[in-house]
Amino acid sequence: MTSQPDCPFCEIINGNQPADVVAETTQYLCFLDKYPVTEGHALVVPKDHIQQFSQLTGTGLFSFLQRAHTEIREEFSPDATNIGLNNGEEAGQTVAHLHWHIIPRYAGDIPDPTGGVRGVIPDKRVYEEWISPVDDLVVVDWTTARSRVTRHITPVFGTDRDYHLR
Ligand code: AMP
Ligand code: ZN
Repeated sequence: MTSQPDCPFCEIINGNQPADVVAETTQYLCFLDKYPVTEGHALVVPKDHIQQFSQLTGTGLFSFLQRAHTEIREEFSPDATNIGLNNGEEAGQTVAHLHWHIIPRYAGDIPDPTGGVRGVIPDKRVYEEWISPVDDLVVVDWTTARSRVTRHITPVFGTDRDYHLR
């Protein structure tokens, strides 16, 4: 294994720093993030110290990632997950040892999760063509609407199948 002095993940791989290990093979290790974004946030690393995705050699990364993901799902029962890689400083990488984030997501953990990893550029998170069914459409039966309140409502010629841009 190639190792880098002062690398926090090499320290974990070499057994010099403690970590909550989720899964392990001769080539890869998965452990819980020390500063989790959500409960069960885990990191998957190759045991060789490399920084960038283009330096990755060998096979088996995706099957290991899937195995680690299964462990996280069984342990923490999230509703969904984000799986991501910050590949290089300009993409947000802060630890220079290649690692994938497995971030469990729980219904309601943020008000609107639309777009997920697109949020790396915050104002592009929700793309323009994203449509969702109108959920607050007021349906008025105009043949029987006679009350003081409803007679002041301006008719909207739509149906409950209307869609709107968020
Ligand atoms: P990134 O910004 O993509 O490089 O992610 C680095 C991740 O490593 C962050 O989510 C940190 O919370 C996590 N982290 C930093 N130091 C440690 C450590 N000693 N043990 C476990 N996770 C760490
Ligand atoms: Zn390292």
